[in-house]
Amino acid sequence: MAQRSGAIPNGRKIPGAAVARLPLYYRALLEVAEGDVDTVSSERLAVLAGVNAAQVRKDLSYLGSYVTRGVGYEVAFLIDRISRELGLTHDWPVVIVGVGNLGHALANYRGLGARGFRVLALVDTDRAGLPLPVAHIARDPLDPEFDDAGFAAALRRRRTGLKRALLDQTLVSGIGNIYADEALWRARLHWARPTSTMTRARSAEVLAAARAVMVEALDHGGTSFDSLYVNVNGESGYFDRELAVYGRTGLPCRRCGALVVREHFMNRSSFRCPRCQRRPRDAHG
Ligand SMILES: [Zn+2]
Repeated sequence: MAQRSGAIPNGRKIPGAAVARLPLYYRALLEVAEGDVDTVSSERLAVLAGVNAAQVRKDLSYLGSYVTRGVGYEVAFLIDRISRELGLTHDWPVVIVGVGNLGHALANYRGLGARGFRVLALVDTDRAGLPLPVAHIARDPLDPEFDDAGFAAALRRRRTGLKRALLDQTLVSGIGNIYADEALWRARLHWARPTSTMTRARSAEVLAAARAVMVEALDHGGTSFDSLYVNVNGESGYFDRELAVYGRTGLPCRRCGALVVREHFMNRSSFRCPRCQRRPRDAHG
């Protein structure tokens, strides 16, 4: 078993040169992950990143010890760790200034959302161009205008997994990786549950769970779990106390005591209780 601290090594300073190489490792790891490989050697990572193996081991040692002897690095965990270090797990609300051709193209570019850049607003000095509806970005569940029935119907029409749908801003906005895991735990649903099996009642449960998680985060002074996670960095103990599954690999489920598991999901991680959130037979993803 890999020897790792689990928590973010608080206060540990990563040398600038090593930080500068993290994107190289990140890209290399994504490449490895696409091949459905769980572990990777420092030598292989070195070749992919164009760095020598000793350097790889040294750089990654700053992130904590994630290497399993004789097996290599755990790919999903390292991706999660590096993306957190680089701030990629964080949602970055953006405002697009200028709604000319480029602004339009950017606002309609779905890849932006997939990379954590959430378009909050479009601004332009030309009043004729405003307000510009960003048709593909859905309302967030706390918005009084949010259409629950419409969401349930749209969800059912999707042929995808439930968590993927929750992260899809064309369906619902404001739900990031952490919110999604926490909401799914509350609703006792597996992230890979096919959306086609989501009844209206189930959909309402997921929405209620997502709202509860969001309200709780707001009550704790954060705009989102993601920003709290980055800012607090575990120091206040907020996450130790409040999060049910996210980042709690190997710790007991707060409801049933089964040990929380972490799984590879869309180049990130998903956390769930293996007992409360059983994998459906027709799992999607
Ligand atoms: Zn449980």
